[in-house]
Amino acid sequence: MVLRLYNTLSGEKEVFVPFKDNFVGIYSCGPTVYGFAHIGNLRAYVFTDVLRRYLEFKGYTTRQVMNITDLDDKTIRASKEQGVSLREYTDKYIRFFFEDIDLLRIKRADVYPRVTEHIKEMVDLIKILLDKGYAYRKDGSIYFKVSKFTDYGKLAKIDLSQVKPGATVEADEYEKEDVRDFALWKEKREGEPFWVTDIGEGRPGWHIECSAMSIKYLGPTIDIHTGGVDNIFPHHQNEIAQSEAATGQRFVRYWMHCEHLLVDNKKMSKSLGNIITLRDVIDRGYDPLALQYLFVSSHYRSKLNFTWESIQYASNTLDRLNQFVERLRDYRSESGENEEITLLIRRTAERFESEMDNDLNTPGAFAAIFELVGKINLALDDGSLGTEAAKDAYGLMLRLDTVLGLLTLKEKGELSGEIEALIEEREKARKRKDFRQADEIRKKLVEMGIVLEDTKTGVRWRKK
Ligand SMILES: [Zn+2]
Repeated sequence: MVLRLYNTLSGEKEVFVPFKDNFVGIYSCGPTVYGFAHIGNLRAYVFTDVLRRYLEFKGYTTRQVMNITDLDDKTIRASKEQGVSLREYTDKYIRFFFEDIDLLRIKRADVYPRVTEHIKEMVDLIKILLDKGYAYRKDGSIYFKVSKFTDYGKLAKIDLSQVKPGATVEADEYEKEDVRDFALWKEKREGEPFWVTDIGEGRPGWHIECSAMSIKYLGPTIDIHTGGVDNIFPHHQNEIAQSEAATGQRFVRYWMHCEHLLVDNKKMSKSLGNIITLRDVIDRGYDPLALQYLFVSSHYRSKLNFTWESIQYASNTLDRLNQFVERLRDYRSESGENEEITLLIRRTAERFESEMDNDLNTPGAFAAIFELVGKINLALDDGSLGTEAAKDAYGLMLRLDTVLGLLTLKEKGELSGEIEALIEEREKARKRKDFRQADEIRKKLVEMGIVLEDTKTGVRWRKK
């Protein structure tokens, strides 16, 4: 089956063909480590992770590079405010970043280059741009000359003659020849970290890091570059200009961007006070994987509106999925095999792949999964499912989870502990004549696939 991915550059879904054989190089814009990542940032990392997992599911070998911005205006300002060194400050948030992505089961990238450890690579690239006439010096700083790069604006699809000062251009830049030009190198400023290099004393601008580090770790042409939609302009547009001007080769073959996450239909912002981090989600009692489910089950190119109701719903759905797979794992039956179910399992595998092949259409993939869950649950309930079919369905769910990264299956022992506790709770409720509560617990047990039997020695349970 053919994989198609939406390429921001062409504005179309394109058939994905790697540059070289079976290998896919992926560069993903990573965190600026001046604070906790908010869940909008995390959404973009989950998207990148699902993309990579799916490529591996399809049999590709991947190499993923994600930069860590530990040097920019924000990190410098924040470390100064706290009176600690830039290194000490950013180390702390790098640790938090890794904690977050581990909790979301995001696979680690192959390389996480830090900006402060790649100053030389950036200086070398700027030297090439100066030599080729794509960059110029103004006072102690160096700028990219946008007018010399004819394709500028192609990715963002904007008419740059319309760009006005202060509109989309970073505000913190020094004087330059053209408002569209951007800083490659910033002159040393009092009280800021700086490096003594061949091109002068100072520090790199923000955009050059991704060009220098992707060329270093993935070569001049990379297959897929990911980021959030807010990276398209100016950051990714500038990356193209710097890289292609320097190497004379195409920089990125497929540009992929993840849409915004909204909170109660509003953009997250400090001024609105609605910034949510993974820690907030955990503090409210949710499993990080419920957030993962929320992210993965919506399409990466659609805006996602986060509400506390939506994560509650995600949490319930995830519980049901886990219980379904546990039931399959533990199921044994005397029933013969049911051809219809065997066919359904095969069709679900095919549907999953064809939906994912269609620009990672995860909502469609989940629709296929839930159809399977619904039908097999019925067969589990009435015992008409064959043992082989249960095994096949279990194997399929685990295989699909290598892409989705959601399941946490309880061991049988753990499960029985939980069941015993629920039964005890139900007995207590019955004794105090709280039949509503008792009934709710019974329902919950039924959902877990547990049947209760009243015996002379007390209540016993068995799996359906
Ligand atoms: Zn970047």
